[in-house]
Amino acid sequence: MSDSDTSKKSNFIRQIVEADLASGKYAAVHTRFPPEPNGYLHIGHAKSICLNFGIAEDYDGQCNLRFDDTNPHKENLEFVRVIEEDVRWLGYDWEERMLFASDYFGQLHDFAVDLIQRGKAYVCDLTAEETRTYRGTLTEPGRDSPYRERSIDENLDLFARMRAGEFPDGARVLRAKINMASPNINLRDPTIYRIRHGVVHHQTGDEWRIYPMYDFTHCLSDSIEGITHSLCTLEFEDHRPLYDWFLDALETRCHPQQIEFARLNLEYTVLSKRKLTELVDGGHVDSWDDPRMPTIAGLRRRGYTPVSIRNFCERIGVTKADSRVELQILEGCIREDLEAHGPRRLAVLDPLKVVITNYPEGHEEEFEVPNHPQEPSMGERPVPFDRELWIERGDFMEEAPRKFKRLVTGGEVRLRNAYVIRCDEVIKDADGEISELRCSYDPETLGRNPEGRKIKGVIHWVSATHGVSAEVRLYDRLFTAPNPEGDWLEALNPESLTIVKAVVEPALANAEPGERFQFERTGYFCADRHDHAPGRPVFNRTVALRDSWSKIAAKGGN
Ligand code: ATP
Ligand code: MG
Repeated sequence: MSDSDTSKKSNFIRQIVEADLASGKYAAVHTRFPPEPNGYLHIGHAKSICLNFGIAEDYDGQCNLRFDDTNPHKENLEFVRVIEEDVRWLGYDWEERMLFASDYFGQLHDFAVDLIQRGKAYVCDLTAEETRTYRGTLTEPGRDSPYRERSIDENLDLFARMRAGEFPDGARVLRAKINMASPNINLRDPTIYRIRHGVVHHQTGDEWRIYPMYDFTHCLSDSIEGITHSLCTLEFEDHRPLYDWFLDALETRCHPQQIEFARLNLEYTVLSKRKLTELVDGGHVDSWDDPRMPTIAGLRRRGYTPVSIRNFCERIGVTKADSRVELQILEGCIREDLEAHGPRRLAVLDPLKVVITNYPEGHEEEFEVPNHPQEPSMGERPVPFDRELWIERGDFMEEAPRKFKRLVTGGEVRLRNAYVIRCDEVIKDADGEISELRCSYDPETLGRNPEGRKIKGVIHWVSATHGVSAEVRLYDRLFTAPNPEGDWLEALNPESLTIVKAVVEPALANAEPGERFQFERTGYFCADRHDHAPGRPVFNRTVALRDSWSKIAAKGGN
């Protein structure tokens, strides 16, 4: 782990946990991360994962991975599998505590029966439409359902028959009997069980015809597991009275404390599973793990490291104030990690041929080049050099302003780790496009500067004979708007992906899928986990070397 990992910032949740441990309210902290397996995890979930697992880790407690799987329609096993993979990849371990809310369907059913017996739940026959009108509005109280005063026996009988599958979907629901006039709409006799025929649940198969609602399931699952602090995002603040009501009404032995924090919003992307599902299903991206997606799987494929994501979550902190985090903060975290740990390589993304006319034909050399300028422990690799090379098209200008420190007609530049060359002649094709530069090299300049000549620029290069062509995918922001809302799909960035045909140094042909590098002078790149193969190199740009966007913004957009 990097240095920034060692000092964890305090936050209001950590303060509550510390106070509860100090006062002896709890002997140990027990948290949980409760994803619904209806999509891939995104960077917002990472915030919750780092918070829940991080607290357990730092206070010698435990954290459960619990799948909140009460809605079998949208959930499936693929999502369960990738969620496990993502949490583990981030560096967290739930040991034997991989749990499913569906594990508790039997107990939850018994809790529902208990509520009925206590006169605190009833079977209601109103249609969905009627239920809506009875519920009232923010300004008007609701009205009691005509079924609210059913006897306990009748309720028990009807609930048993709901379970047995006697009634069609939507015919009846079980509701908590709380208060139809409550200013908090969540407390106006919320539904706790509904009928669902013909669905096959990924864990329980076709065992159940009735399924519990989220609010009922969540607090009771927390209680069953002995959770001490149930951390969730702010939109559940209004549900907290309901969370507490169920546990009080059932007099459960364990009553966890729900604490809300602000969800992560990130600029130039969307963090909602509904929207991410729409991006995938609508073909706006290639898949859930498309490197443009803010999913953990997408970030991993893009080249992000677990440490960079954990550091990001640490840096943004945990508060109760909603905000949108700048993309530069996330990008800064991966740059920092890869600057320190990413081996350097040479790659030319927009190749222009250079022929060194005074370099002997058929001759070649091999230079031992360090993999990292400050880290000798990262070793060296051989880089071949010969008469024909590729350089970056943008590193040459026929007529250049004085500030241009790279190659110009008649000018000199250093080839990184190699010689100084001078451009003698520019060859153009029929369309007037520059197709080749004819240069000469100074054999005395390997590793030292020529006397009396000041060589300012250094450019990178790849041997044309030994270089390997590679597909390089240049990713940009997925959206053009920092805050894509309303017609959010309209804000998709049509240039979020540019594919270029690059030439890379031979050492890169053997990169392992997922391996990360700094391509000198161009950025941080990662061999694609799916498409990269020996003989067919494919690299994804994780992030550019410097933050060009904020510089552009600082200059006033030009
Ligand atoms: P979405 O709103 O993206 O559909 P969700 O809240 O429905 O997500 P869950 O699978 O229910 O997704 O979330 C699991 C946990 O992750 C919950 O505790 C939730 O509060 C938390 N979480 C979800 N999104 C964020 C976010 N953007 N920032 C922080 N925590 C989040
Ligand atoms: Mg949810």
